[in-house]
Amino acid sequence: MNPIRPLDPVLIDQIAAGEVVERPASVVKELVENALDAGAERIEVRLEEGGIRRIEVRDDGCGIPADQLELAVRSHATSKLRTAEDLTQVATLGFRGEALASIAAVSRFEILSRAEGESAAARLEVRFGCPGPVREASGPRGTRVRVEDLFAELPARRKFLRRPATELAHGAAWVERLALVHRGVGFRLEHGDRVLLEVPPDAGREERWARILGRGLAERLVEIRDRRPGLVLEARVGPPESARRNASRVHLFLNGRWVRDPRLLRAVREGVREFVPAGMLPALVLELAVPPERIDVNVHPQKTEVRFRDERLVIGAVITALRRGLSGSEWSARGVGSIGRVEEAAPTATRRPAPATGSAGAPWERPLPAAVGPPAGPTADHPAPSQPELPLPPPAGGPGAFLSVARTFLLREVPGGLEILDQHALHERINLEELRREIRSGAVVAQPLLVPAVVEVDRVELDLLLARAEDFRRLGVELEALGPGSIAVRSVPARLTRLDPEGLVRDLLEIAGEQREAGPEALQEEVLHRMACRGAVMAGDHLDAEALADLLRRGADLPQDRTCAHGRPVRVFLSVADLERAFHRR
Ligand code: ADP
Ligand code: MG
Repeated sequence: MNPIRPLDPVLIDQIAAGEVVERPASVVKELVENALDAGAERIEVRLEEGGIRRIEVRDDGCGIPADQLELAVRSHATSKLRTAEDLTQVATLGFRGEALASIAAVSRFEILSRAEGESAAARLEVRFGCPGPVREASGPRGTRVRVEDLFAELPARRKFLRRPATELAHGAAWVERLALVHRGVGFRLEHGDRVLLEVPPDAGREERWARILGRGLAERLVEIRDRRPGLVLEARVGPPESARRNASRVHLFLNGRWVRDPRLLRAVREGVREFVPAGMLPALVLELAVPPERIDVNVHPQKTEVRFRDERLVIGAVITALRRGLSGSEWSARGVGSIGRVEEAAPTATRRPAPATGSAGAPWERPLPAAVGPPAGPTADHPAPSQPELPLPPPAGGPGAFLSVARTFLLREVPGGLEILDQHALHERINLEELRREIRSGAVVAQPLLVPAVVEVDRVELDLLLARAEDFRRLGVELEALGPGSIAVRSVPARLTRLDPEGLVRDLLEIAGEQREAGPEALQEEVLHRMACRGAVMAGDHLDAEALADLLRRGADLPQDRTCAHGRPVRVFLSVADLERAFHRR
């Protein structure tokens, strides 16, 4: 073996550059982000041969003082971050001080900049990591960076470059992404002598998006907004025809930063699932704003991955907002007329119906009649249909008044229309609420198993489960190690008689594995959700009269009975007007 030697600093930068600079598009992204951070009002990007030959980005931002130019291209030098504390409050697109150094390490690089208030510009060239002197130059206020022959001296990297057309597509995508959300900034993208994109700084959102997404699409976007403590959400979703098999038309922004978070994307899939062909994703721009201290963007050098402090809140909000917004959109109607539209509550909704918005309101805006009625027993007065907030009369023949369809949906007449329940969603919601109630008053009531269920696990899994045994015990699940390769389930929550212990252990393992960092409450919440679902009757399960009566009785006093634990509707209400429309009576 050779002796150990420290690496040459240039080689260090070239190696590190691999994490930031993957291809010309990464250079485009970093340079445009720098221009945005510098407060530019106009940004021009010029590419030759898809950026392989040359990338040039000019801006009219604050510029860099001559005496700092050398520092700007040094690794881990930045004007955007000082203390570790700042890292919890990142408000700029850059903060790692790596981009210019990385780019300059793997290209023929030149930066020309004139800072605000300086009489002359300064210029610095770096050839594959070796800087020249800083020279005085002339130029307007702002910065111009030129990057030529990317990876030319690094054959190992160069051979991963694709055809110019492919590299151009990637680079252009970054300009478009950034131009979508940075309103007030003008963008121009040129390839050779062709202008590919031109957005004036004062172009409003409509005009901006029309130029970037295409006018036809930009005019047909459905707008969705949601605002809750710690989160502002705005989404614009294209029609089903805009859907693609991949996420190429999906743009997710977090505090102005384009991100590629797999969990967010999954939430988007979930939120749009009912409105596009299976497995596809529509054109969509989702902008989230959260307080910077609630996210961590320092996950990866390319800064496109993030961690959320309240992931469940964000993910839940995305799913619900998209679903709710789209269910009110013109293309949500499936089947006949408006009949396919789905009534869904805001997550904060209670059983008290929202104030009526006038008779012309869409179905999802109108108040719901009431909760599931008690199953049987004589009651005196039937409330008038005009007072839907009063308790419902019991269905005439007790629970039998429900019509079961496809062993999944329970239909019945309610004042003003037709109510459809999803038996699984209802049971899941009941389970969740009842378990929560038990936790609030101490712990979930456990049911010891006469014969403990033994499940095979490996050493690592065993440790994972035992580390959380106390948290699980509060949920009525008692686990006990039976030697190195198996674990016994001694009790399960008393009300979840359908729970299969083996499946339960698999669920607990999965959750404990995913939520290693989670505190007991977050972990328990996740387990509760899972158990509520697993312990519920499924769509397709036959419910006999007794089981149905039990379900409806327990459903009668839910604090939240409009959506299941996953945010899917428990109940859909079709008004008489909806039915009339479906039959062309209106
Ligand atoms: P970061 O953006 O993470 O700080 P960079 O390597 O991209 O790191 O840039 C280093 C520094 O150079 C920045 O902090 C900024 O002060 C300065 N800089 C880079 N590009 C520009 C620009 N276009 N306009 C003004 N200053 C810039
Ligand atoms: Mg930067």
